[in-house]
Amino acid sequence: MKAARLKAAPSFSLETLGAPAIGDDDCRSVMTNPSDPSGRDRIGARSPSPPPEAGLYVVATPIGNLRDITLRALDILGSVHRVYAEDTRVTRKLLDAYGLKPKLAAYHDHSGEGARDEILAALAGGESVALISDAGTPLISDPGFKLVRAAAEAGYRVFPVPGASALLAGLVTAALPTDRFLFAGFLPSKANARREALQAVSAIDATLVFYETGPRLAESLADMAAAFGARQAAVARELTKMFEETRRATLDALAAHYAEDGAPKGEIVVVVAPPLEAPETSDESLDAYLVDALMRLSVKEAAQAAAAELRVSRNRAYARALVLKGGA
Ligand code: SAM
Repeated sequence: MKAARLKAAPSFSLETLGAPAIGDDDCRSVMTNPSDPSGRDRIGARSPSPPPEAGLYVVATPIGNLRDITLRALDILGSVHRVYAEDTRVTRKLLDAYGLKPKLAAYHDHSGEGARDEILAALAGGESVALISDAGTPLISDPGFKLVRAAAEAGYRVFPVPGASALLAGLVTAALPTDRFLFAGFLPSKANARREALQAVSAIDATLVFYETGPRLAESLADMAAAFGARQAAVARELTKMFEETRRATLDALAAHYAEDGAPKGEIVVVVAPPLEAPETSDESLDAYLVDALMRLSVKEAAQAAAAELRVSRNRAYARALVLKGGA
């Protein structure tokens, strides 16, 4: 995954992403001396963050453009006792861009109890510890859940330092409803498991957000079109980076586009509209469906099939199936 990401963005240099434009001096002054001589600022915009309290800081970092990092994240990364990162090489590039040199070590949820115990011991010693991932918000399809759970269970404070996340960046540019959404992360890579996962979310009345990779995109979109029907969707690629692109169309049109165009480069968020409004199913259409289904299926199976296919309630379908079978 990491290697793919680095390869997928060959033009991803710090310079093109704007980090040096801040200037080393500006950067240092933001982090070390952002005092407000006017005294007007009372809400922290120009005041340095106070020295961090003991606890675990879950710090969001950019998903592409290196300027997408908050002043508070820079304060925290520059002042905690230790920073734990998913990949220290990736993180060092970010830290170097901002002239930060914290004590840095690696953390993965699967690196076992060892790293977690080390972090818990640091917290027990009254230290402040920051957790960051390669990009975006830790724990969101990234390591950290087990650590946060362990820290919370042991009674240590866990502080969010919010910022970029690809799921929100993709959602808010998709031009699809944002009032209710489900983040479904990465789909399984095996076709059968992926189709099952899509079926499991197909009836949820919410916009769906997935993370996806270029090589799997066309297949996933085709499976989504089969599972969800002709819904609108958006493929958001390389958000905040030089080759940012958002393509909006129906799922089948997007599947056809990427099948023909080949696997796109870079990182991808797929956003899918909520289920289409089911047209009201008349009693006549329901009966016609059930009469046919009952020739092959039991009452229960026919009712289940009708409920799924015609989007009617199972109770309604079951009651009609019973009547038609003569069992009511
Ligand atoms: N923690 C990260 C976050 O908060 O977004 C996500 C990490 S996950 C391992 C990486 C996936 O996020 C990528 O495969 C892609 O699906 C999505 N992603 C990350 N950066 C992106 C970007 N700039 N544009 C589009 N999708 C991105």
